[in-house]
Amino acid sequence: MRINIAVDGPAGAGKSTIAKLVAKKRNLIYVDTGAMYRAMALLMIRNGVDLSDTERIISLAETADISIAYEKGEQVVLLNGENVNAFLRTEAVGNAASAVSAIGAVRKKLVQLQQQLAAKSDCIMDGRDIGTCVLPDASCKIYLTASSAVRAKRRFDELTAKGEECDYDKILADIEARDYRDMHREISPLKQAPDAILVDSSDMTVEDVVDRIIELSCGK
Ligand code: C5P
Repeated sequence: MRINIAVDGPAGAGKSTIAKLVAKKRNLIYVDTGAMYRAMALLMIRNGVDLSDTERIISLAETADISIAYEKGEQVVLLNGENVNAFLRTEAVGNAASAVSAIGAVRKKLVQLQQQLAAKSDCIMDGRDIGTCVLPDASCKIYLTASSAVRAKRRFDELTAKGEECDYDKILADIEARDYRDMHREISPLKQAPDAILVDSSDMTVEDVVDRIIELSCGK
């Protein structure tokens, strides 16, 4: 039987860091679904699309070719054939992804791609709706969260370490606004699946969280 581990949770909870490490330890493919929504957002930004223009977003999304490849074990997102990984991790793209991902036609297209990947390979997939919508039959479901203050502090430290100037209060406000949008949208809002296990990483180290997820997912 396929191993499919679903990890959902709010922005900055550490999902991708943890999922990458678990993938390595358990020899699974890591699927970062947020990167796919970010690639869609990048496409809109590059084309100067107004993020409230749903019709235009849908028509551009429908013609977009988004696919996933793996290079040296790293997920690469191809947008119309171009590797766009280097452009995806900015706050602007993250916020635009949150807006674009609320549109049903965008989700339908990307969920299909995610389900195909999970059917083909043993994987750990992270996102907002993996346990609730994308992989309702996942062998193990985790809801990974942390307080918004801790998540904002982690983001602040990450950006500061990269030499980017940033403001903690602005990051916190952005995180809270993004949580609100992701949790209150009509389609596939972020929520814990009834059969998902809650892991609150506020006071845990990365190693603690990885060990906990391996313990929870082993044998499944
Ligand atoms: O996880 P990441 O911050 O890269 O995701 C960017 C945005 O994409 C999220 O804020 C969320 O709105 C959206 N997303 C989603 N469903 C997923 C993954 C991400 O709606 N499965």
